[in-house]
Amino acid sequence: MPENEIPTITVEGLSKSFGGFQALVDIELTVGRGRCLVLCGPSGSGKSTLLRCLNGLEDWDTGEVRFGANPVGHRARDLVALRRKVGMVFQNFNLFPHLTVLDNVALPPRINMRLSRDESETRAASLLATVGLAGHAHKMPASLSGGQQQRVAIARALAMKPEVLLFDEPTSALDPEAIGGVLELMVELAEAGSTMIVVTHEMGFARRVCHDVVFMAEGRIVEKAPPNEFFGSPQTSRARDFVAQIC
Ligand code: ADP
Ligand code: MG
Repeated sequence: MPENEIPTITVEGLSKSFGGFQALVDIELTVGRGRCLVLCGPSGSGKSTLLRCLNGLEDWDTGEVRFGANPVGHRARDLVALRRKVGMVFQNFNLFPHLTVLDNVALPPRINMRLSRDESETRAASLLATVGLAGHAHKMPASLSGGQQQRVAIARALAMKPEVLLFDEPTSALDPEAIGGVLELMVELAEAGSTMIVVTHEMGFARRVCHDVVFMAEGRIVEKAPPNEFFGSPQTSRARDFVAQIC
């Protein structure tokens, strides 16, 4: 990142508890424009909670999140603005089951950006073509395979032209044969210069396109390094154990 460029996302001293349990402890993180960051770590280490804070789905106790130079607040108006900037893809797709594939993708820009029905449907159709689902626009989500549903979810996230894409284990719920197609699409997005944070244990993806790997354990960031360094010579015993498990 050029020295004088403001990062797309800055997280400073972010902490978050659920009751007496501290899920995030003093998180410090920056993501520059066009960077792809892979977030990994054992189950329960706080990865989803961190993404949910960045997306405004979760409030936090102390610390600050900034998009560009602007701190993210928790007033309703700030949240609407935030959700325009952030596209989120979940492990279980979270498509609207009662809407067609086309409407799933067309609805967010229609509601949040006040695009006309025509404009939003044109945009949605073009995105569905991009993710290889042009022929499926008028089907219901349940009639698609898991891999196809996840590609719809990615098209839906892209429909808002977000500044940042967040992926929370996007391939964990997929059959092995569906994983490749979704990862390939994510590789294309990263190579096209999208700013992305991806929670995944897909090492091949991390090695191929991500700039940095962040390893979390027990609510803290334990290591941050380029993928070759992180996977090749993890510095802490926790990260070594983790890498040994997923390799
Ligand atoms: P990860 O995504 O790394 O598996 P999470 O961010 O989902 O981890 O969870 C981190 C910790 O916070 C876990 O111990 C989890 O049980 C706890 N946690 C997450 N969400 C809640 C919640 N809404 N209420 C209470 N505890 C929660
Ligand atoms: Mg999680």
